[in-house]
This record gives sequence, structure tokens and C-alpha cells, in this order.
Amino acid sequence: MKKRIALFPGSFDPFTKGHEDIVLRGLNLFDEIIVGIGHNSNKKRYFPLETMKALIDETFAIYPQISTVTYDDLTANMARQLGARFLLRGLRNTTDFEYENSISQVNRHVYEEVETIFLITSPHLAPISSTIIRELHRYGHDVDEFLPYKLSKATISV
Ligand code: ADP
Repeated sequence: MKKRIALFPGSFDPFTKGHEDIVLRGLNLFDEIIVGIGHNSNKKRYFPLETMKALIDETFAIYPQISTVTYDDLTANMARQLGARFLLRGLRNTTDFEYENSISQVNRHVYEEVETIFLITSPHLAPISSTIIRELHRYGHDVDEFLPYKLSKATISV
């Protein structure tokens, strides 16, 4: 049978415990998961791209079936290039749903064979968002409790 490869795309600015949970739960569904940090070279990130990639790699170092890539392209094109027939996404609420609904249609328009698989957030992680973490961090608030262990131990310098 063909290997079930999923691309988990996102900005991951930063990668949070909510994201970590989606990847680990995705292991029950896929043979391989590629965390894809999408970045638009015209947009400035809050947490540096290469630092975030290295920390995600460290987070999943014990899982040979999880890897990380960075890309500046349409997500669907990246999936095709990686041989990933699945996109993995997390859903927290109806706002996520509205957005995910349209983006998944667009992705199938670009790459017809791709299927987006959604996992509903674990309730205790639902309030976590990268946007809120950036806001807390910007004003000097400790954000470790929202981050995977390896990220929380690294002093993320901005
Ligand atoms: P994007 O910029 O593409 O929305 P994000 O990095 O914000 O990327 O999120 C990537 C994916 O992770 C999205 O599908 C988002 O809904 C999901 N996600 C974000 N936070 C959580 C969470 N706390 N629980 C479950 N899924 C989440």
C-alpha cells in the first residue's frame, strides 16, 4: 500500500502545545508527517524561521516518521512536491472552520488529489493560539506553559 504521508502546514510563529498535540494524534493516522513551516518572504516573522525549525525538529527527535520543512510556495504545491496526499489541520472553533473550509477547497483546486484531514482540538489546548503567545511574549510575560518542552526550555530570542 502507498505510504500515507501528511503535510501539517502552518505559520508556527511559534509552534505551540496545540500544534504538538495535533501532530502526535496524527501519528495514529499517517505513516509519515511533515511539519511545513510556510513563510512568505515579504512578511516578517516574530520568531526566526530557522530557530523554529530547529526547535520543532528537536521536539520530535525521537520520532523518525516526523520531519520539518520550510517553504515559500502554495501549500498544495508543496504537498505535491513532497508526495503528501494529505494535509493535516487542527480545528478549534467555528472561526477556524470558516477559514479551513475555503482554504481546503482552494487546495483541492490546486492539487486535485489532496485531502485535508481535520482533528478537533483537545479541549484543554483550545485557547492556545500563536497570536496570543506572541502578544504575551512581546510584553515580557512567560509563555513556557503554552509551548512544547523543548521550545519552552530554549530562550527564544527575538
Ligand atoms: P496558519 O497561519 O496557517 O493558520 P497556524 O500556525 O496558526 O497556521 O496553525 C496551523 C494549524 O494548527 C491550523 O490548522 C490551526 O487551526 C491549528 N491550530 C492552531 N492552534 C491549535 C490548537 N490550540 N489546537 C488545535 N489546532 C490548532
